Amino acid sequence: MDIPPAYINIDMLIGVDDTDSPKGMCTTYLGAVLARRLLREHMRVHEARLVRLNPNVTFKTRGNAAIALDVKGDTDLAFKIACSTVEELADFSCENTNPGLVVVEESLNSEFYWRAVRDFCEIDDAINILDLANARYRGYKNRRGLIGATAAVASEFPDVTFEILTYRKPERWGTPRSVDRESLFTAQLTTFPQTWDTVDQDNDVVVCVPHTPDPVLFGIRGESPSWVMVARSMIKSENSEIEQIWISNQGTDVHLQKGEIGELKEGLSYFVKGVVTNSPKTGIGGHVSFTIKDGGHSVRCMAYEPTKGFRTIVRHLVPGDIIIAVGSYKKGSINLEKMVVVELVNVISTRPPLCSTCNKRMTSDGRDKGYKCKKCGKHANTPEIQKMPRKLEVGWYEVPPTARRHLAKPLCRFVPYL
Ligand code: ATP
Repeated sequence: MDIPPAYINIDMLIGVDDTDSPKGMCTTYLGAVLARRLLREHMRVHEARLVRLNPNVTFKTRGNAAIALDVKGDTDLAFKIACSTVEELADFSCENTNPGLVVVEESLNSEFYWRAVRDFCEIDDAINILDLANARYRGYKNRRGLIGATAAVASEFPDVTFEILTYRKPERWGTPRSVDRESLFTAQLTTFPQTWDTVDQDNDVVVCVPHTPDPVLFGIRGESPSWVMVARSMIKSENSEIEQIWISNQGTDVHLQKGEIGELKEGLSYFVKGVVTNSPKTGIGGHVSFTIKDGGHSVRCMAYEPTKGFRTIVRHLVPGDIIIAVGSYKKGSINLEKMVVVELVNVISTRPPLCSTCNKRMTSDGRDKGYKCKKCGKHANTPEIQKMPRKLEVGWYEVPPTARRHLAKPLCRFVPYL
């Protein structure tokens, strides 16, 4: 006798990646549609995970996102529905879109996830893991999407944030988005720091509404489902088709690891401690660069033009300051996402001393000859040494929301928030 799907209750994780292209689609939208199709078949969807992976992967379309759904139901039916959803919605016309779909009934070792978020993986590594786990999987075209899909079902989140993503009605895809700007600023003002990066107040820019032709209308990031819902409820916009709250590793700094200058690997992201060796210079395009060293090795740090006011902070560094540079190592530079000023050197300036007899400022008496008072002729050997005020303090500094990467933890999430 056939058992109806509603009575087959197997726990599974469904992972999907690489379904979009610069022309459209979004893996999270596909995931939200899939969740609804599974629910319609009386399956339970316990959790929808938005999993960001190494931001320096060159094949990514936008933010290197994959998704995983935690589902209870009939595995064969879920796999069938997931395959047909990918085949219907993924943008197969794009050469760079290589969808991957994975369904596992047992949880995978998280080692693959950590490698995918902090390093680079091979397609064959993903396939070996899936074969060993007796997973159901399908890799389309060159099958690269299996990397992200496998990492998504192997993911573990020691720290989490949430994002509500609202998706547009299909007939509006590719047209200008209608979202009330003022309501976005009000939503952030009311709920910050429980939600963040809806807008960039200092630069007067909306951050949460994309400009690409994909289905996303806007996304609100925050500490909990209820906080993102509070902010979302304040936003006036065109009607959405569907909305999904995702649990995510966004905003948690999981892509970062401790690194030593001289041992940094291309495309990995680090915390790197060093001493500033030269005054920051502003180059063509407004990009600011300086060098830090540790022992015999040095590395360039970059604050690019889009990091806006963060560059002003960087320009206040002077040789001898000790910092921790935080960011990805690419083409010989650390591209700064954040930095910690650990120690500031004393900056001093010298000038002729005051005459102890007539209290007038002395003048130089010639090279290496000390100082002389013009009024009374008194002589002094040493200058007056002045400690200059520094425009920086010890502590954390970050790029503004407009320049923030998905995985970067905003300082408003650092506890305690001051
Ligand atoms: P969007 O954010 O709009 O969903 P995307 O930026 O996630 O798009 P994808 O289209 O998913 O970009 O492309 C990223 C590709 O890189 C996928 O095929 C994924 O499997 C693969 N990938 C992800 N992380 C790694 C990694 N660490 N090493 C190698 N390949 C990876």
